[in-house]
Amino acid sequence: MKKSKVDIKEYSDVWVIGELIDGNISPVTLQLINVGKKLANKLNKNTIVVIVGYGEKDRVTKLLNYGVDKVLYIEHKILRNFNVMGYTEAIYKLIEERKPEIVLFGATSMARDIAPRLAAKLDTGLTSDCIKLDIDERDGKLLRTKQGLGGNLITTTICPRNRPQMSTLIPNIYRPANYNEKIFGQVEIINPEILCEDYKVKFIKKIPLEDKKVNLADAKIIVSGGRGLGEPSGFKLIRQLADTLGGIVGASRAAVEAGWIDSRHQVGKTGTIVRPDLYIACGISGAFQHQSGIYDSKCIIAINKDPYAPIFKICDFGIVGDLYEVIPALIEEINKKQQRYFDNFP
Ligand SMILES: Cc1cc2nc3c(=O)[nH]c(=O)nc-3n(C[C@H](O)[C@H](O)[C@H](O)COP(=O)(O)OP(=O)(O)OC[C@H]3O[C@@H](n4cnc5c(N)ncnc54)[C@H](O)[C@@H]3O)c2cc1C
Repeated sequence: MKKSKVDIKEYSDVWVIGELIDGNISPVTLQLINVGKKLANKLNKNTIVVIVGYGEKDRVTKLLNYGVDKVLYIEHKILRNFNVMGYTEAIYKLIEERKPEIVLFGATSMARDIAPRLAAKLDTGLTSDCIKLDIDERDGKLLRTKQGLGGNLITTTICPRNRPQMSTLIPNIYRPANYNEKIFGQVEIINPEILCEDYKVKFIKKIPLEDKKVNLADAKIIVSGGRGLGEPSGFKLIRQLADTLGGIVGASRAAVEAGWIDSRHQVGKTGTIVRPDLYIACGISGAFQHQSGIYDSKCIIAINKDPYAPIFKICDFGIVGDLYEVIPALIEEINKKQQRYFDNFP
């Protein structure tokens, strides 16, 4: 519904929409607090975390250790598990009532579901997948920077007349807020009136993922495979190299979309932004969206049979060749080296 003219002076404070994953505070929540506090300091306003759940008061209270002024904990039995309609309704009502100036989300699946719905209901602007957020020193507006047109363009947008100003931020770009023993904020519990019968979407059951060990964000060594593998079984070779090096398996979006590997392995703009000591890209061309997820790697090695593949422009070491010849040779060499190392032990 189109709103009549908004009085932007009525809006105050920076809100971070936090997330609980299986009862734990998600890493992106702490990263958002870090950036939210920076924005709030520039505006001389409060940083407030809004989090939805049920029976998690103790965990939610821990957010105060990250230097926020307040935690608004929306608690309701129906909201124990994510429900797009329930979460949207509960957060929408709170925004309408309290009028935050800025609302930030992580660019996560949950936010991709609820942030556009909220923006439409609130008749305000949303810039998704931002890589940088700042305040315009001239007029205090939120500057939302994101990449566009396949990375060939960086745009910074503002939301001049409507409120709140809303953005989703790509995870792992900002560091998490620092933990502090001393707390000064407080938790306010909000018990919304929610009629679950009204929701068109209902939670039925949670199916746990079989392999939970994909933690790309913290991995020190990642070996990734792309479309160049040619077939799903190519990932056996990728895993073999990863195991030899004590690393974990990553993938390009093309490999994920081909159904060769689970999406939790996807590295890149819409996958996970990684910062390993060693990143090995095998049969990956190095499209901009993949590159933007690996820039912070300490060392990038690329294996590709096309000497003009873009990945060679950003890698530290490039091997031009067929990955099915190069990887087995690499594994053999590493194993030989390890053997020599152990043979030299007294
Ligand atoms: C909005 C949006 C978001 C996106 N987000 C992501 C993202 O997060 N992550 C991501 O990865 N992509 C993302 N993409 C997709 C991205 O644009 C590319 O399409 C994708 O990264 C290509 O994957 P690839 O390099 O595996 O495949 P290709 O580009 O097809 O490259 C395959 C490479 O393998 C090489 N090759 C082939 N056979 C062999 C062999 N036997 N040995 C050695 N090399 C070989 C080829 O020379 C080629 O360079 C996104 C796209 C969009 C539009």
